Amino acid sequence: MQTEPCCNAVEEQQPVRLRGHHFLCLLTYKGLGYTPAFVENMTAVATRINAGAKVILHPGPDDICAALTPADRAACNHDCAKPETAALDELAEKATVAVLGHGLAEAFTLDAEKVAQLRAAFLTGESRTACGLCRWRAVCDEIAASNYAQTLLIGFHAA
Ligand code: SF4
Repeated sequence: MQTEPCCNAVEEQQPVRLRGHHFLCLLTYKGLGYTPAFVENMTAVATRINAGAKVILHPGPDDICAALTPADRAACNHDCAKPETAALDELAEKATVAVLGHGLAEAFTLDAEKVAQLRAAFLTGESRTACGLCRWRAVCDEIAASNYAQTLLIGFHAA
């Protein structure tokens, strides 16, 4: 007896867990990061989102932070659990919620339209209070000003 396929493979995937400020960082991500392992993982995260994996807010170290090994953290002097990073998350979450018009605690599809909305607000600076606390700010300013050239997040396009 044949059985019906149970559901869409995209819907079966676990959502990508993102801390607040990574909703911003993905917008300007073009393959730059702390270590090769970090970059490889962040590229995989962007690729999953482009393919339709849902995203969900995660407090503290998330699926992007997960690629940093203790050795990487020592080499780049980076601690994902710092209180300053949590402050960044809080500001970025508020800004992202304001732009999208909905909360981030329920998994949702980051489609191309939402990516475009977030990028427009990022470019004007409207959503970037958190970036004022970040050492990558000048890099991200430049990427946004280039109209996000060569960035890897596209957002999901429904077929
Ligand atoms: S400036 Fe920092 S917090 Fe803002 S998007 Fe860039 S890397 Fe992320």
